[in-house]
Amino acid sequence: MIVKSRVESLELQILRILNARMNLSPKEYSNYLYLEKGYEGEVIFDRTMEEVEKGFLVMNDLLLEHGNTKFQIDSLFISKILHLFEVKYFEGDYFIEGDRWYTNNGVEIKNPLQQMERAESLLRRLVRDLGFNINIESTLVFVNPNFYLYQAPRNLPIIFPNQIPRLLHNLQKQIAPIKNTHTNLSDRLLSLHSHDSPYKRLPEYNFEKLKKGIACSHCHTLNTIVNRKTLICNSCGKRENIHEAVLRSVRDILLLFPEEALTVNMVHEWCNSIKTKKPIRNTLIENFTLIGSGRSTHYIPKNE
Ligand SMILES: [Zn+2]
Repeated sequence: MIVKSRVESLELQILRILNARMNLSPKEYSNYLYLEKGYEGEVIFDRTMEEVEKGFLVMNDLLLEHGNTKFQIDSLFISKILHLFEVKYFEGDYFIEGDRWYTNNGVEIKNPLQQMERAESLLRRLVRDLGFNINIESTLVFVNPNFYLYQAPRNLPIIFPNQIPRLLHNLQKQIAPIKNTHTNLSDRLLSLHSHDSPYKRLPEYNFEKLKKGIACSHCHTLNTIVNRKTLICNSCGKRENIHEAVLRSVRDILLLFPEEALTVNMVHEWCNSIKTKKPIRNTLIENFTLIGSGRSTHYIPKNE
């Protein structure tokens, strides 16, 4: 049973919008790709685990803290044992020398096992401090079939793509009734989950300098045109109702500029390809609350 589902991180959502509208530096771009790939891998992992998840309390993407140290968990399966999963979508060939991990070109990368062990040790202390006595088992799962790790010692807590059926089989065997302690633990962890604010580590951007247009919902490029009531993507062919597309654009503006007043003019300029302001005003009126009048008119999300 999924207690906490996975959503794209704010950082990934914002970098995806920015990538279509400005030139990210090589470092920012590689961070963006890393997040995009990471999420893709986690989605594959979630799909794979669907057949066993009913037997566990499943918490995805937890951001916890112990002793002022933050740590992140890709997936936690709660039952008699706590199963912590670190998921990687590495592609290509890698090799290990001692504790060090390298890509095929000899570029050293962060040792993912150490990253996982750190999370496990912090989680162990946190769980103990919360008053629970429960064992933790951690597994590093590689989900990309085009991944190969040379010189990997045996007996590392690693699951390679072709071993995933075995992992599922082992988990299946461990399924036992969920007890109150397990539910209590998942409630406690959920209440301690913190929301990460990515705004400080994002590239600098401002409304004026970003490229304008409506991004495609599928491939995220700005290579779109509006034909009557349909947005058409010239890159991938995706078609979308214009109201949906405007609403998506508004959500993007709110993500990028949470502090700014949302106005019809702003959305009109952002979308760039809609001739009259009428469909924009209609979309805003339908989905947002109008505040103020005259020049100070702006819109806020309905639940605020
Ligand atoms: Zn597209």
